[in-house]
Amino acid sequence: MAPGEPLIVVISGPSGAGKSTVAKRVLEKSPGLVRSVSVTTRGPRVGDVDGEDYYFVSPEEFAARRDAGRLLEWAEVHGNLYGTEAEQVDLSIAGGRSVLLEIDVQGGTSVKAARPGAVLIFLLPPSDGTLEERLRGRGTDDEAVILRRLENARKELESAKDYDYRVVNDDLDRCVGEVMGIIEAEAEKNGADGPPVPG
Ligand code: 5GP
Repeated sequence: MAPGEPLIVVISGPSGAGKSTVAKRVLEKSPGLVRSVSVTTRGPRVGDVDGEDYYFVSPEEFAARRDAGRLLEWAEVHGNLYGTEAEQVDLSIAGGRSVLLEIDVQGGTSVKAARPGAVLIFLLPPSDGTLEERLRGRGTDDEAVILRRLENARKELESAKDYDYRVVNDDLDRCVGEVMGIIEAEAEKNGADGPPVPG
């Protein structure tokens, strides 16, 4: 990470745009950046680790955290609830580490409203066909789930214009490099302007 004040970085994009892969690579290459682990009511998929990929909770537990004001943002995505814990984000920033949030566009918009200094990056798939290919290639979801995700992806694409940056994931290395360049430039800018004002 470049010197400068810690940042809240949001990465969004349609399901299948390669968000998780890009986020993982960016995190591996950025020691000063930590990943926010979201809370969700979705059940774990094969390979998902509780506390690493998500905190998997019941709908009741989710509602309790939300109603206690513990979530910086939350949204319903594909019929499940997802949220970002405010404390995780605030502790990282206070400790001088930037935080990466891999969340949907509703969440991204809420984060920007609450923390205007947040940097919003939208990942675009190279084409619609690629998106469908990636969703199917993943092989973890049934047809109804894939169709719902494709429909949601089309809606998500409309929100790209509200983001600070749009990056096309045509080539993984190039895309990761571009995202890292954005984060470094914003961290430097942020350092020059002073820290973000908490919302
Ligand atoms: P998945 O269930 O495939 O891991 O994630 C489904 C969608 O939920 C993805 O678009 C992901 O970015 C989004 N998501 C994950 N965590 C959060 C969160 O904390 N808040 C919001 N608003 N969306 C999230």
